[in-house]
Parts: sequence; structure tokens; C-alpha cells
Amino acid sequence: MTKVLELEKISKEFNNQKALDKVSFTLNKGEIVGLVGPNGAGKTTLMRIIVGLTKRYEGKVRFQGERSIGCVIETPSFYPYMTGFENLKYFAELNGVRDKQKVLKTAELLGLSDALKKKVKGYSLGMRQRLGIAQALLSDPELLILDEPTNGLDPTGIHELREYIKNIAKERNITVLISSHILSELEKLCNKAIIIKNGAIIDTIDLTKDKATAVSEVAIEVED
Ligand code: ATP
Repeated sequence: MTKVLELEKISKEFNNQKALDKVSFTLNKGEIVGLVGPNGAGKTTLMRIIVGLTKRYEGKVRFQGERSIGCVIETPSFYPYMTGFENLKYFAELNGVRDKQKVLKTAELLGLSDALKKKVKGYSLGMRQRLGIAQALLSDPELLILDEPTNGLDPTGIHELREYIKNIAKERNITVLISSHILSELEKLCNKAIIIKNGAIIDTIDLTKDKATAVSEVAIEVED
């Protein structure tokens, strides 16, 4: 299997408090991996370190992809009085992408074709999340990092988002790291779940096998 990302003993402190404690794992090409843990477990900090937004940490991040890393780490913000298309086009141009078809195709991948003409201020949270993912995909990343994209979505929105992510991973042949508080939300989407608590990995579950057993065992540990 081709390695895309290797984390080796990543540790991070904020004000002498450990946020991450020797976190190591590898992401292989084409995998969809869940990072699951309760509030304050260290998920966002780890994702910020991977994409270079948080500095001064211990350990090594080795990205071995040939293309970039795309991410949606906070709820994405857009120009509310511009349309979805204008927002995407603006971002694309900032990144040197001048191909209008690429913007349209990327939006289509996220089910946003009809919404593109509407101003973003009228978008639902789910649509904003999808527009954020479309934006992240415009630079053709090899690895896509999504921090709790299902947060605040209703069950239908969560289901839809999962399906879009699954299709994107397949169509674009990219690796995805996605975080959530809730393992069962990611169970149908991910090949593997990494369970993090108090800044340390407490378990890694192969979700391609024996899902029900694995999930029920770990759910008890994560729930607090
Ligand atoms: P949530 O699910 O609530 O987003 P999380 O798993 O993403 O949580 P982090 O946001 O990474 O967790 O936080 C890990 C720990 O680091 C927490 O104790 C948090 O308070 C602390 N922390 C994160 N960022 C900072 C910061 N900029 N300054 C100080 N402490 C921070």
C-alpha cells in the first residue's frame, strides 16, 4: 500500500497542558479514515498540525503525496452576498485555477449545481459544508482533511454528506481523514477509525470487518 501521510509521535502542549501525546499513525492512498473522540480529545489540533496551521509541536509529519492537502477545518466562511459560484470562482482564481468547467464540475460532485446561482447567505449549514469541501477540492488535493463536517447537521444531512464524501474519494482517488465525536456516524463511510482521547490514540478499528462488534465495544469507551 502506498503511504500518503505518516505521523510520528506528535505531541503538543498549550500552556503546559498536553493536547496531544505521541500520536502516530499512517494514512494509505485511497483510505477514508475516521478520527473519533470526545470534546477536547485533540482532533482539531492534530488536523491543524497536519496542514501546517499549528506550529511548534514535537514529532514528525511526513506527507508523501504528489499533490496538495485540502482541508475544511472550521465551519467554512464565505462572502454571503456573493453566489456559490462567485465564491468558488474567486477562491479558484486566488489559487491560479481559471477553468470555469472545473468549478462547475467540482460543485456538481457536491450536489451544488442548482445552488450555485444562489447567494450563500441563503445556504443551509449542510450546503455551506459542501461548498467548503468543493472549495478544498479545487486545488486538486491528494489528501482531504475534514474536521467534524457533520456537526450540527440533521440525520438526512449527515447521510447525504457521507454519500458525497464516499463518491468524491472514489472519483478523485483521494485519501480522506474525517473527524467526529460519534463513531457510528463514520462507520458506514470509513475503512478505519482511530479513536483518540485526552490527546492519545486509545484504539484503531478496522471497519471493513466485523463492524457491529467493533463499534459497540468502542462506543462505550468514547462516550463520556
Ligand atoms: P472538539 O471536538 O471540541 O473540537 P477536539 O478533539 O478537536 O475537540 P482540540 O480542539 O484539538 O480538541 O483541543 C485539544 C485540547 O487542546 C483541549 O484541551 C483544548 O482546550 C486545547 N487547545 C486547543 N487549541 C488551543 C489553543 N489555541 N490554546 C490553548 N489551548 C488549546
